Amino acid sequence: MSSNNRSLLVFNFGFLLEATLGTSRKLELDYPSVKVGDDLTLTPLTGKFTATRISEGVYVSGKLHSTVTAPCMRCLEEAISPITIHLDELFYYPETSLPAEEEYAFDGETGRIDLAPLVREIAFLSYPVRPICKPDCQGLCMECGQNLNIGDCDCEDDDIDPRMAALRGLLEQ
Ligand SMILES: [Zn+2]
Ligand SMILES: [Zn+2]
Repeated sequence: MSSNNRSLLVFNFGFLLEATLGTSRKLELDYPSVKVGDDLTLTPLTGKFTATRISEGVYVSGKLHSTVTAPCMRCLEEAISPITIHLDELFYYPETSLPAEEEYAFDGETGRIDLAPLVREIAFLSYPVRPICKPDCQGLCMECGQNLNIGDCDCEDDDIDPRMAALRGLLEQ
């Protein structure tokens, strides 16, 4: 089975349908890589969560860990940032009429819950606002665009266009 298989996040909780209220099951994930949607693969995906039988359905809570890649805000190279995915969601039983804004439901026929859409949504919300490739990233030369992590360029600070200098001053604030 491919490690990118989305079904890695499908769990059979049919037994919880029969269980008494408050019954819970703890699960631990330790995947090298999981595709959670056509537009997102999480590498790795680890952590723990608990599925608890409550009157309306199955409540899933826990904390998963992964990384996301986004362009570094200073040099635009790929920056890998750790993210924490906080699970805190109720999967409604099929016989419960879904509140309009709720999109997560328990599949009554198969007894399955698919966590992939939920994990995907939370992962996107967890993207860093200011991704940075490394704490001491030197960024790009504002004049010639040279990646200053790779090496200094030949631009002299004194020669910088005053408009660019003003812009750089703003960016450095
Ligand atoms: Zn950078
Ligand atoms: Zn330069």
